[in-house]
Amino acid sequence: MNESAAMPPEFYKLTSIKKSYNGDFALDIPSLHFARGETCALVGPNGSGKTTLLRLLAFVERPTSGEIVFDSIPVWNGAMNQTALMRRVTMVAHPPFLFNRTVAYNIGYGLKLRRKSRNDVKTKTSEALETVGLAGFEKRSARTLSSGQQQRVALARALALEPEVLLLDEPTASIDKKYARDVESLIRHLRVEAKTTIIFSTHNYRQASALAHRIIFLSNGRIEPLPYENIFKGIFEKCDGRTKVFVNETLGFNVISEATGPAHISIDSRDIMLSRRPPENGTLNCHAGKVVRMTLHESYARVTVDIGVRLSIVVSEQVLTELQLKLGEEIFCVFDCGAVRII
Ligand code: ADP
Ligand code: MG
Repeated sequence: MNESAAMPPEFYKLTSIKKSYNGDFALDIPSLHFARGETCALVGPNGSGKTTLLRLLAFVERPTSGEIVFDSIPVWNGAMNQTALMRRVTMVAHPPFLFNRTVAYNIGYGLKLRRKSRNDVKTKTSEALETVGLAGFEKRSARTLSSGQQQRVALARALALEPEVLLLDEPTASIDKKYARDVESLIRHLRVEAKTTIIFSTHNYRQASALAHRIIFLSNGRIEPLPYENIFKGIFEKCDGRTKVFVNETLGFNVISEATGPAHISIDSRDIMLSRRPPENGTLNCHAGKVVRMTLHESYARVTVDIGVRLSIVVSEQVLTELQLKLGEEIFCVFDCGAVRII
C-alpha cells in the first residue's frame, strides 16, 4: 500500500452539510475537507457558525442534512460506532464543561474510561497540567478556579487523551495574555509535531494567521472568501495633508488615520473594484497593475493583480465576464480609503 492510500488527504470530508435550529440555517456548507495533521483556524463573527461546525466535527451534533466522512468512515449512517469515533476526536468547548470535582478527577475521567492504569492516569494528569502551566493543581476543586484556569484544565484534559483530532472552541478567549501566549505556543508545538489535526475557532485574525496552515472564514453559516487578505506592513506618512501608508518605497495607499510610525493594514478583497479606466474621484486609491492569476470558485472569482505588491481581489463571475479579463493584462485596482483597515 502506498502512503497516499494509507493516509487519505481528506481526513474529514463534508458534503452538502446543513444544520438548522428551528428552521433557521446555522450552517450551510456545500463542501469542506480537512487533511490529517493540518492546523486550521475558523474565523468569523459571533453567530457565524464556528461552534456549530466544531460540534459537527466532534460528532456531538448531527447535521440536518448532508454527509460527513471521517477517515473513510461515513458518520451518522446508522452503522457507525459513535463512541469509537468520539474517542479519536476531542473538543474543548467554550466555556468548558467541568465536573464539580477535583482537577485530577476531571482530567482522569476520560483516561479511566479508556481503561488506563492508575499510575498511567496519574502520570498523564500531572504531565498535562504541567503543559498548561497548572502543575500541582490536582487536588484543587475545578469549579472554584478562575475561568481562564478552568479553560486550561479543559485543555489539559483533552491533551491527556492524546486525540487524533483536537477541536478547540475559542481556546484563548477568557485567558490572561500570558497564558494565551502559552496556549498559542502549545498549538504551534502540536502543529510542528503534526501528529494531531487541530481545528480551532477564534475572533482574532492575527492569531489565526500566526498559528494555522489554513484559515476558514465563516459568515452567516457559510464559508466566505477571507476579508482579511492583502495584509501589508508599511509606514504612515503625511502627504499634502493626507495620510498614506507606504508599503514599499513608491507605493502608498490613502488611509483614514492620523497615526504615525509603523503600520499594519489589510484591504478587504471584496472592497477592491477592477476597472479599465482610472476613476475621476481623486479621494480613492487607484493603482494600475498586471493580472497575474485568476481562479474561479463556487460563487465568486478571485483575481490577483500585481501593483508593486500583489492584491487579491474577489469579484463575481459576472464582473469577470464583463471585463473579459486576461492574464498579463493591465487593469486598475480601485478602492476607497475606508477599505484600508488599520490592524
Ligand atoms: P459562533 O460560534 O460562530 O458564534 P454558533 O455556531 O454558536 O456561532 O451559532 C450559529 C447560529 O446558530 C447562531 O445564529 C445561533 O444563534 C444558532 N444556534 C447555535 N446553537 C443553537 C442551539 N442550540 N439552538 C438554537 N440555535 C442555535
Ligand atoms: Mg462560538
